[in-house]
Amino acid sequence: MRYTSTRGGIEPVEFKLAVMMGLARDGGLLLPESFPDVRDRLQSWSRLGYADLAFEIMRLFTGDIPDGDLRRIVDRSYAAFDPVPPALDEPWTGAEPVPVRQCGPVHVLELYHGPTLAFKDVALQFLGNLFEYVLSGSGKALNVVVATSGDTGSAAIHGLRGKKGIRVFVLHPAGRVSPVQALQMTSVIDDNVFNIAIDGTFDDAQRMVKALFSDLPFKDAHSLGAVNSINWARILAQVVYYFYAAFRTIERTKASEVAFSVPTGNFGDVFAGYVAAQMGLPVRNLFVATNENDILDRFFRTGVYARGEVVPTLSPSMDIQVASNFERWLYLHFGCDCGRLRDAMADFAATGRIELKAGEGGSLDPWLRSGSADTASTLATIRRFHADFGRVLDPHTAVGVAVATEALASGAIDGSTPVVCLATAHPAKFPDAIARATGDRSLAVCARIEALKGLPTRSYPLAASERELADFVDLHTR
Ligand SMILES: *Cc1c(COP(=O)(O)O)cnc(C)c1O
Repeated sequence: MRYTSTRGGIEPVEFKLAVMMGLARDGGLLLPESFPDVRDRLQSWSRLGYADLAFEIMRLFTGDIPDGDLRRIVDRSYAAFDPVPPALDEPWTGAEPVPVRQCGPVHVLELYHGPTLAFKDVALQFLGNLFEYVLSGSGKALNVVVATSGDTGSAAIHGLRGKKGIRVFVLHPAGRVSPVQALQMTSVIDDNVFNIAIDGTFDDAQRMVKALFSDLPFKDAHSLGAVNSINWARILAQVVYYFYAAFRTIERTKASEVAFSVPTGNFGDVFAGYVAAQMGLPVRNLFVATNENDILDRFFRTGVYARGEVVPTLSPSMDIQVASNFERWLYLHFGCDCGRLRDAMADFAATGRIELKAGEGGSLDPWLRSGSADTASTLATIRRFHADFGRVLDPHTAVGVAVATEALASGAIDGSTPVVCLATAHPAKFPDAIARATGDRSLAVCARIEALKGLPTRSYPLAASERELADFVDLHTR
């Protein structure tokens, strides 16, 4: 399988190069030249365990990695997850890393059993092993630099810690990430991990990282690499759980197709579901669920993609206005017309706005629908699911569940289609929101987090200065 850029400015590349490139060199995003149609394999795939299924799906996209090597990378990646036994009423018998459980009107896909308790582990455990594999024997190094407001940083650190040939520099705004998130990062004191606490905001941290990457001579001289969700390997790892969840849910309900509700920030997670649908998974709809930062919900309702101000919410990993993976959908929507895509992105850069016309039936896309949930509705959903079903949802997950229950109530999803809600984080990562919703902070506890308390920590304080970051990276990559 070869990969091309949405902006059409690079020669097609094979998988390994696509992964190391991250962002295409012409500023576009990489996509496979085509999506394989797997409808004739769904029946046999539906009986596979998670790692076996991951291997079968990924090998269709990773042409230049021999099967045996891919198999080892996959096995190692999912061994890092807690194997979770299914509930008593479930037909599945083996323990798996990402269980699906029915909960009241929806099915909850638990993606938070990895080392940092957020769904980003599913992709970053795989990406870390993949980077190490590609670098091995090449004599090359990779220095990953990433800014984080919380979840991405810890998942990247846990995916890359101790990996040969790789260093990871994570910038977080000092005192502005939650205490749990800070501890998940700074308690990792491996030699190849550099936690940098910026005297500034997340925006400062992001600006510093962008400046470093846009200095191409510096970037090349220091082998800088990126792990944000524009990396195709992250999307690919996430495609797998849409198949897995659909199989488990169809097995349980005997339905012929399923809908998904996905709490969305950068559009990476829901785009992976879109890829699964393109490949022939029987998906009725994918609901793009946003919090008050609802640029994507407004877009799928009206066709107008218009930048707004970021508002802080209870679901900080979704406090995003410009969704980096949206460009991938737009490119497919334009029938893979790079020229049209480039014009639209240039318009957006100039005016902060893109406007599209709805197709037949009044919708922009055969699969994608959207909804948003504000703070009050998020808290009410957490409270109700705890009271009615004894289930504690983290605030990101609650946004997706709120959108799904609203769509069921309004008939936007008909009652015969089961809805899978992606649970993207463990509630113990967000104890304040759980306490606010339920009045009971003790509901937000998890052994993995308790075990971190009292561990030695290390971080490097740094001024919010691009110069100082460049000096720091230079000093520690010699
Ligand atoms: C990153 C994140 C999201 C948003 O995922 P995208 O791929 O950016 O849309 C949702 N929930 C949690 C807990 C996250 O960490």
